[in-house]
Amino acid sequence: MDKEEHVRVRFAPSPTGYFHVGGARTALYNWLFARQSGGKFILRIEDTDTERSDPTWTAGILQALSWLNINIDEGPYFQSERKDLYLKAAEKLFLSGNAYACDCNREDVLKRTEGTGHVGYDNYCRDRGLAPADGRVLRFLTPDSGITVVNDIVRGEVEFANTSIDDFVLVKSNGDPLFVLAVVVDDQDMGITHIIRAEEHLPTTPKAILLWHALSDKKVPTFAHLPVLVNEKRQKLSKRRDKVAVEEYKEMGILPEAMVNYLTILGWSPKDGSEIFEQKKALAEFSLKEVNHSPAFFDEKRLLYFNGQYIRALSDQDFTQRLLPYLEESYPKISRDDILEKLEPLVSLVKERAATLREGVDLLDFLFKEPFAPDEEDLQKVVINSDFSRQLLEEVLKRFLALTPADSRNSAVNATGKTESEEAITTGEKVSGHGLFVAEVLKDILTESGALFDLKLAKAQAPIRVATLGKKTGLPLFESLEVLGFPEVIKRLRAAIEKTSDNK
Ligand code: GLU
Repeated sequence: MDKEEHVRVRFAPSPTGYFHVGGARTALYNWLFARQSGGKFILRIEDTDTERSDPTWTAGILQALSWLNINIDEGPYFQSERKDLYLKAAEKLFLSGNAYACDCNREDVLKRTEGTGHVGYDNYCRDRGLAPADGRVLRFLTPDSGITVVNDIVRGEVEFANTSIDDFVLVKSNGDPLFVLAVVVDDQDMGITHIIRAEEHLPTTPKAILLWHALSDKKVPTFAHLPVLVNEKRQKLSKRRDKVAVEEYKEMGILPEAMVNYLTILGWSPKDGSEIFEQKKALAEFSLKEVNHSPAFFDEKRLLYFNGQYIRALSDQDFTQRLLPYLEESYPKISRDDILEKLEPLVSLVKERAATLREGVDLLDFLFKEPFAPDEEDLQKVVINSDFSRQLLEEVLKRFLALTPADSRNSAVNATGKTESEEAITTGEKVSGHGLFVAEVLKDILTESGALFDLKLAKAQAPIRVATLGKKTGLPLFESLEVLGFPEVIKRLRAAIEKTSDNK
């Protein structure tokens, strides 16, 4: 890169839908390049297509960029507010003879070109000397010979014969400027030095270059067209087929730094071949010249793997802070303090197991979800249709109840259906307060109870787990039971036992 040149790049999304991971990768590469060179990263919202553009999508783009920590130096500029500038440029092109008015309609053109093998516009109005007016488009007068070279950092020099480019429209017959004109005017006006964007824009680039020269003597920016993102079938990622919205990944609890890391390697990787790395490495080593031009596979599974690694590298405290908003969103009626109290003893166990923050929420649902109901399939399989489950559950229940302090151990079920010991618990004299309802003790109890039925601990855990935590898989059982607490565990064991009776 020319050290003298003051780098100015722009990210120029069209707000016509959810913010696409491909857009995020483009934004990121622009941003990395700007940050590396001490240049400016500009955001330009290309909302000239009024029918498809919507401020909601713009808000989504801004939120997603901020979530990914891609900070903006200038903008957002809105093309919808800059129409005068484009029309002024159109007038300049007309007056300088680089553009002409045209009143042809499609049918006329097709009739004239039928059988000639000519594709596209046939330049009919080039010499008719029409004045611009309502109902007439403005066309660019493309040179009849020569080639236009796109200087692309990723692809090298790409040549286009000017004869392959027809006299394209700059302003529609209703007076609206078209995208190709707006982009060139803005890139000139904003002093853009490098245009880093999706590969799909490569075919329009020669048009932009011709237009650029017709409008100004300024140096044409350097281009970098980034490789397309594809799915596992090597198809271009599409909104209809694939999960492409950045918002969705945020929603499922991908950490922004994992997303950024993963996006960084979609088209570029450091020389040492590492894949998971801190952003400072990308800032130090990223190079547009090293960007690969073959399609990059966006592999959701790989992203999940990255995310799991990032989650595990967080401190418990940081992980808690990341998880908290997801829990609060899922359980709006539970206070933050209550959530934190239950989360705290389990947080490191969740952190080790969750690939996403949403998975973290799922792992904890046995603590917060109201009303509690075990997974029906697991209940059938592991509790109801099992030879030993009912007896084991009863045995465990009996032993858990016997864990109460000696003075209330002989309690019977009283009129409220609760044992006196449970009553004592709910009035504050907690079993756990006596150091009895704790993971190690519960584990011993289950080991002993299982042995009565010739069951190894792992096998004995399954029905207890489904009865109390609701699923066959999840967090370690005993730590979870400790946090769930004596009264709730007893209640759930009893409910499960009752279910087995229903089916007897
Ligand atoms: N607005 C275009 C898009 O969203 C980008 C155009 C450009 O970067 O030049 O695909």
